[in-house]
Amino acid sequence: EEGATVGILASELGFKGTEMIMHLMKLGVMASINQRLDYETLQAISNQFGFEAVRKLTLEEQILQDEPDDATNLLSRSPVITIMGHVDHGKTSLLDAIRQSNVMDTEAGQITQHIGAYHVELESGSVVFLDTPGHAAFTAMRARGAQVTDIVVLVVAADDGVMPQTVEALNHAKAAGVPILVVLNKMDVESARPDHVKRQLAEYDLVPEEWGGQTIFVEISAKERIGIEELLEMLLLEAELLELSANPNKPARGTVAEAKLDKGRGPVATVLVQNGTLRVGDVFVAGRYNGKVRAMINDRGHHVKNAPPSTPVEVLGFTGVPEAGDQFFVVGSERDAKALSEFRQAQHRATQLGPQSRVSLEELFQQI
Ligand code: GDP
Ligand code: MG
Repeated sequence: EEGATVGILASELGFKGTEMIMHLMKLGVMASINQRLDYETLQAISNQFGFEAVRKLTLEEQILQDEPDDATNLLSRSPVITIMGHVDHGKTSLLDAIRQSNVMDTEAGQITQHIGAYHVELESGSVVFLDTPGHAAFTAMRARGAQVTDIVVLVVAADDGVMPQTVEALNHAKAAGVPILVVLNKMDVESARPDHVKRQLAEYDLVPEEWGGQTIFVEISAKERIGIEELLEMLLLEAELLELSANPNKPARGTVAEAKLDKGRGPVATVLVQNGTLRVGDVFVAGRYNGKVRAMINDRGHHVKNAPPSTPVEVLGFTGVPEAGDQFFVVGSERDAKALSEFRQAQHRATQLGPQSRVSLEELFQQI
């Protein structure tokens, strides 16, 4: 944080340096002439003499300024879902079942592209799935301040019940303030005991609606492809209650869901657009890197020219490989984009220098 020194403050306010040091001492601040003062102290001492301290915006703030959205500009957007649950309870099978039912229903035979996320079209709306199941991805993103998930689908095998990672997952979702929809999977198995699992989950405040609670439970078999449609409908219903909205008529903001270095294409990242619309040619910053959107490819493998809110797209045109959870911003000029990424790279190098850097790295993530 760049604050003025005691010496500068003194000359601005028309005092001698020693007088300024005395005034500061009366406020309980012991400072030498060349010491920088924090904003609160500058404000307090300026006010005392009838001045107003104006904080200079940081580079981040100048470049990433975002006007709050006017309600009249907001349109509803699709929910973004993360699937969590204990190992072997059927997360991957469920994602496969959802993807396949959708591909077969809407675009016979077409192969979906693996881009780390995909959307499912229904008659009554669409739903976006982040297809990196498990809470590792969820926590990694949350640790970087990214909030991308609107609803967590908690998969519990009806024959196995609540297990350690079930509890971990529901705790993560609760800590993030994300609503949970429970899927009881493996209902085709003889030993499935859905009521037993409901009782177990009720102890964690996930009480089914039929018992007077607020949590939606859907019984499925990912293997037999039973209950998938109902699950999707329930997700839309839950999403409706959340009244999710975004403003498509402004520069895009989003989060990197996945990124890699592709041999032929260079750095590529799946970006989930969360607000605004991303367009080919847009200049952006994501984490420590900047770039210009060279091409965008959707989850069906098609090149697209623009991506509205709640759209996952693979983006080409990064100067380096960003990290999952990095926030993605379209900025006004290439000069700004470059300045900001250089600034962040310098910060990153500084935090890599010593063991004390751990703390500042976290602070850095909170700022961004
Ligand atoms: P994950 O670790 O949560 O991703 O679980 P997987 O999707 O890999 O599933 C673990 C095992 O359970 C696999 O052998 C699946 O075939 C099986 N499985 C998943 N869903 C079902 C289901 O609905 N019924 C039955 N009988 N087996 C299932
Ligand atoms: Mg799996």
